[in-house]
Amino acid sequence: MTDIPTLSHWIDGRAYDGESRRTAPVYNPARGTVTTTVRLASTGDVDTAIAAASAAFSAWRDTSLAKRQSILFTFRELLNARKSELAAILTSEHGKVTSDALGEIARGLEVVEFALGMPHLMKGDYSENVSTGVDVYTLRQPIGVVGIISPFNFPAMVPLWFFPIAIAAGNTVVLKPSEKDPSAANWMAQLLAEAGLPAGVFNVVHGDKEAVDALLEHPDVASISFVGSTPIARYIYETAAKNGKRVQALGGAKNHMLVLPDADLDLAADAAVNAGFGSAGERCMAISVVVAVEPVADDLIEKITSRMAGLTVGDGTRNCDMGPLITEAHRDKVASYIEVAEADGALVVVDGRGIEVDGDASGFWLGPTLFDKVSPTSAVYKDEIFGPVLSIVRVGSYEEGLDLINESPYGNGTAIFTNDGGAARRFQYEVQVGMVGINVPIPVPVGYHSFGGWKQSLFGDAKAYGPAGVAFFTREKAVTSRWLDPSHGGINLGFPQHD
Ligand code: NAD
Repeated sequence: MTDIPTLSHWIDGRAYDGESRRTAPVYNPARGTVTTTVRLASTGDVDTAIAAASAAFSAWRDTSLAKRQSILFTFRELLNARKSELAAILTSEHGKVTSDALGEIARGLEVVEFALGMPHLMKGDYSENVSTGVDVYTLRQPIGVVGIISPFNFPAMVPLWFFPIAIAAGNTVVLKPSEKDPSAANWMAQLLAEAGLPAGVFNVVHGDKEAVDALLEHPDVASISFVGSTPIARYIYETAAKNGKRVQALGGAKNHMLVLPDADLDLAADAAVNAGFGSAGERCMAISVVVAVEPVADDLIEKITSRMAGLTVGDGTRNCDMGPLITEAHRDKVASYIEVAEADGALVVVDGRGIEVDGDASGFWLGPTLFDKVSPTSAVYKDEIFGPVLSIVRVGSYEEGLDLINESPYGNGTAIFTNDGGAARRFQYEVQVGMVGINVPIPVPVGYHSFGGWKQSLFGDAKAYGPAGVAFFTREKAVTSRWLDPSHGGINLGFPQHD
């Protein structure tokens, strides 16, 4: 036990143990062993982080755009050069395979690169002579100390959706990462320090509900950016808004892929397998339901099962296709849906229990699992299972499939597979989902667009990163200015008009 390291918070440019003695174990899920113990912050520890961020804000805001950009540019270069170190941390604590971990970092780097354009993105507008001798212009200014609360499934990418834009815009940050895979956050904090970021601009507090509540309630925190499950997203949205903060709270998902009879079924089968089982299905943009418009279901299922048979499951460092689930309890919960499916009358086409793995038997394994003829009334269909479980729902028409998707309480991502441009165009118009793929199964927008779902997949009105991220982490000021010409002036108590 004495060999297990303890991960501290990162506050004011250094590791900080804090006052709380509470800790949580961090596992390597491919081995089922504890690799690290993470500290869980008290309210006082969070207050210390917020105080450091508040103290750093004024000087960071005063730092020129050019200097802020240059520090972020150095961070981008360091992150790109040393991404394999970060990928190894992700694989060790999350379990995702190395290629997928590198993919996560690449999508995070996109946002850093977008944020490097902040001198352009923060430019305001200018209208000359709106009234005689009067000009109006707008400025974008940082909002202050921003809080970020992130989930376990993207321990690098989700923080990277937010902090590069927040920092580039002149804000200071307190990040509360998932306690299940916390080390990536400290690694990035260290790298930001190496890039020249002043102490206090980026802080990390580890913890659970106590730390989250301290962020939500502190008067010096201007905004909360949250990504996680829907019940917690709703709680974050309500609590942060009640405390007067800006909030973007991205929640859970249940993403459907609609396959029309004219689709290329090989492409659709590849997409369903990649998007259903990549990262063991622990992605908010994973495809969890394939809606097959008859008569394609039998052919499609055959193509999907033949591809599933070739997938290798095992330790993420061993070139496998898929790794373990995050915890033993989560693995057991996901596996329990196989019994639910059977009880609800679905066909278990592939059962992932007892799969042979290239890894330690104590890991949290469940192999790719496929259900057919799933009823929309079953919990298998309704719940966000968040594991390597793909359901097939058979429908008779495009309209029936569309209605099913639109009736879902979630609206994160969806995809249509078809060769009919008219059908695809109709789908993009009619579907009630925030991110849509046309022959693309995981339509995560690039860094210069914005990411976010509809309905219970996003609370608040601000999507993440891209233009929405810049708007969220800045506030606009409109200035109306007149440099006096002695011929203008005089008393007029009427509401300002233009002449
Ligand atoms: P989670 O909601 O359990 O945890 C997210 C964060 O909230 C963590 O930092 C956690 O410590 C904190 N938290 C947990 N319980 C809390 C509580 N009772 N009070 C206050 N804070 C609490 O989510 P997770 O299991 O880490 O991540 C998986 C979920 O995240 C899935 O539902 C997935 O769909 C969702 N997700 C959504 C997106 C998106 O963009 N919409 C992206 C990634 C993940």
